[in-house]
Amino acid sequence: MPPVLAPLFPLLLALAVPSRARTDDLARFDPPSWAPVFAELKGHLQALVRLDTSNPPGDEILAARYLRETLGREGIAGEVFVSTGTRASLVARLKAQGPARGRPFLLMCHTDVVPAERARWSVDPFAGTEKDGFIWGRGTADIKGMCAAELMVVELLKRARVPLSRDVIFFAQADEESGTPDSGVGGSDRHLAWFLREGGHTLWRSGAIAAIHLQVAEKRYLDVKLVARGTPGHSSLPRADNPVHALARALARLSAWRPPVEIHPVVLRFLQDGAAQGTQERRELIAALSGPGWEEAARRLEELDPETGALLHDTAAATIVRGGYKANVVPSRAEAVVNCRLMPGRDPERFVEELRRVVAEPGVEVSYEPDPLPPVAAMPLDTPLHQAVEAAAAEAAPGAPVSPLLSAWSTDSQSLRARGTIMYGLDPPLSAEDAGRAHGDDERISIDALNAYLRLLYRVTLRMTARERT
Ligand SMILES: [Zn+2]
Repeated sequence: MPPVLAPLFPLLLALAVPSRARTDDLARFDPPSWAPVFAELKGHLQALVRLDTSNPPGDEILAARYLRETLGREGIAGEVFVSTGTRASLVARLKAQGPARGRPFLLMCHTDVVPAERARWSVDPFAGTEKDGFIWGRGTADIKGMCAAELMVVELLKRARVPLSRDVIFFAQADEESGTPDSGVGGSDRHLAWFLREGGHTLWRSGAIAAIHLQVAEKRYLDVKLVARGTPGHSSLPRADNPVHALARALARLSAWRPPVEIHPVVLRFLQDGAAQGTQERRELIAALSGPGWEEAARRLEELDPETGALLHDTAAATIVRGGYKANVVPSRAEAVVNCRLMPGRDPERFVEELRRVVAEPGVEVSYEPDPLPPVAAMPLDTPLHQAVEAAAAEAAPGAPVSPLLSAWSTDSQSLRARGTIMYGLDPPLSAEDAGRAHGDDERISIDALNAYLRLLYRVTLRMTARERT
């Protein structure tokens, strides 16, 4: 077993079993009938889809106003924070009754969507069409379905007069898809909250939630620059310090480099949980990851499936090369950008040191823009929020395993996690097919899946925030 895993195993094996008494205690906050609530939920999603918040330009103020008006009808004050022009986020807070116990609980989503190419869709992407048991439209899967469900959760809490042990904050954020989120709103305690947001993957299969992949960590984005310098001149007089040649040598060594394998405990658990669905060979390799041949097994897994490979080590991919401007002139400079994704907790400085050793080219400078973010580890799995998700899943999605997910992509969750936030990604359920449509054409979400998500999210929220009966 790789030594890094040993101390974490007790955490990985801990399973939350919902207590009967608590389950019954929370059931009293359920609405008398879910059918009208589901109808409202669908209406919220359709209304949000009809507000075109394609980014650019965004215009998220349309969604922020809708949310504020809806909450206002329930007697909940929402505040709209305008960053610039029509870019605006909404924050609403339900206060704890009596002294708050601990950090607030924060439900977050973003209201912007990526643009849609209307001509490629079979329906109007901004009509919120209901067809074949789905709501169709841009943002239904990413991530207005989540906004609608979070809004509904806040409304339900208020209607049921749930006695809250901590503040509940609903944060509908502008400008997520551009990668430069407006995050200066929500109160000074926002960073210390328990957070739920997007970033994970919940699988919808055969009319039920089949698996919940809760995002607990992500790889870190890092652009590294390689710059080669040499003597410029006429190409008829070649010199040894030709920067294009030096850069090519550096990139050749980089492309041959195999970053060391690391079996992150989150990845191991994720692979083990999904092993049953794989081939016999894959199952054996995953089992071997905990034994003495773990490194070899990891390499073989990577050969079989690059997506798994990306979770087993840091990566470095050259993406841009620039140099020269005329066929008969040796330039003074050539450069490349290498986009890297680091495993959780990795120190960028030490990683770049390693790259310099790999490149080993004296005329090539390897640099990066240091960002102020400290290394961000995976979220712990033994938190009250994690337990709440597991217990709520046992109630609202029985039989669906909750597995931790390390995503190979990166989001702004990192900066919040670096500031002490405990944040998990719990996404609306999508079938494998519908997950592929997010950001693509004919995006949609199953209405049943959205309803199941609301019940799950409401249960998680109650477990985190409802005072126990005394
Ligand atoms: Zn999104």
